[in-house]
Amino acid sequence: MMNMINKNNMENKTTHLEEELALLEADLQAHYCQIGKEILDMVESEKGKINDLVDEIIKLKKKIAVLNNEIECPWCMAYNLSGSQYCKHCGEKLNAIERVGEE
Ligand SMILES: [Zn+2]
Repeated sequence: MMNMINKNNMENKTTHLEEELALLEADLQAHYCQIGKEILDMVESEKGKINDLVDEIIKLKKKIAVLNNEIECPWCMAYNLSGSQYCKHCGEKLNAIERVGEE
């Protein structure tokens, strides 16, 4: 009889600890989830800023190339000195190239 009570008591303790463990694990999951959401928000906002900056940089490079009378490689978009036969970046022939800024 004494043994039986002890066993029940032990099982109750284990159940209680397991419930506590489940709560802690759920709490941990919620924190991981929160980090995921915050990172996603941050990535979204940074992505917009990065896209704007990249657009601006491309525009500025184009402007500088036009002022320097450079030509854009149709294959790799690198800028080359006007009159170049081959692209200094990819080595492709710069025949039938469009002049930068001429649209
Ligand atoms: Zn090229």
